[in-house]
Amino acid sequence: MTLNGERVRRVIRDNANWTSGQTSCRIIPCVRTQGQAVFDPNKPLGLADATAPASFPLQPITQITPMRLQGKTILVTAAGQGIGQAAALAMAAEGAQVVATDIKAPLLASYQGVSNVTTAVLDVLDKAAIARQVASMERIDAVFNCAGYVHNGTILEATDEDWNFAFNLNARSQFWMIQQVIPRMLAQGGGSIINMASVCSSVRGLPNRFIYGSSKAAVIGLTKSVAADYVAQGIRCNCICPGTVDTPSLGDRINSYADPVEARKNFVARQPMGRLAQAHEIAPIIVYLASDESQFATGNAFMVDGGMTI
Ligand code: NAD
Repeated sequence: MTLNGERVRRVIRDNANWTSGQTSCRIIPCVRTQGQAVFDPNKPLGLADATAPASFPLQPITQITPMRLQGKTILVTAAGQGIGQAAALAMAAEGAQVVATDIKAPLLASYQGVSNVTTAVLDVLDKAAIARQVASMERIDAVFNCAGYVHNGTILEATDEDWNFAFNLNARSQFWMIQQVIPRMLAQGGGSIINMASVCSSVRGLPNRFIYGSSKAAVIGLTKSVAADYVAQGIRCNCICPGTVDTPSLGDRINSYADPVEARKNFVARQPMGRLAQAHEIAPIIVYLASDESQFATGNAFMVDGGMTI
């Protein structure tokens, strides 16, 4: 691909990708030497302009790769904020047609003007609504079941209502969604199901997370069960187990403590890296699991936990 220097400089400055047909063209960092541009992996995007004299044209080095999710249609639940939103944006940037859903319509307004994303209001506690959403889509190559709820408390502080609500949102909603998408994926010849679990599950017990940890352990079991049943039919099912991620709902939970500053310190103290994750740090594993790069991976729980399970 030949590009004139101005275009290249502008693209580097804007730190952008652009798409042409089935391929995306990424400008990788380069510096000018004797009129040649050479790859410099130590320079972040944007430095090429600063280091290059303006007198001769920059020779672009381009790396042409297929977008990782080109041609795939992906359904995401709880995409209005937090990890679901970060995943939806990352998958759309990799060329997927993303259907971003959430129970809260106002949150979906954030996708206005975002390429490759359409939105729909979906309450995953509504079985019929899940069926309607799936039926409305021409194809579904991957689904990211992200919706979930954190109950705070020990077994002695847990009510039947708390248990039912958390299990319905964290596990039953995934059962309903997967039951709807599997016939579609079978008809299409395969697909990838990605479920949101947590490090706090069968992986690790954490204080005051009796219901949450139990329900996320159910997600891991559900994931393995679906994977086992459909491994020979091209449907993969995996789940992800994040550590503590600084999302709006975590902020709400922190602010509900009598001393939010102390509460945040305690959340950070759980993380061996000494910091919380940002939602965009969880998104890449979801892109990977939705893509064909992960075609040999199924039935697994993927930790992205800042060292919580070292
Ligand atoms: P969040 O809690 O900030 O946002 C959750 C989203 O879910 C909101 O947009 C909300 O409107 C939507 N939602 C709530 N009820 C819904 C319903 N019935 N149907 C559809 N959407 C609904 O997001 P988050 O913290 O990124 O959490 C997302 C998932 O990640 C949850 O399953 C959570 O358990 C899991 N998780 C979070 C963390 C963390 O530290 N934040 C760690 C591990 C796992």
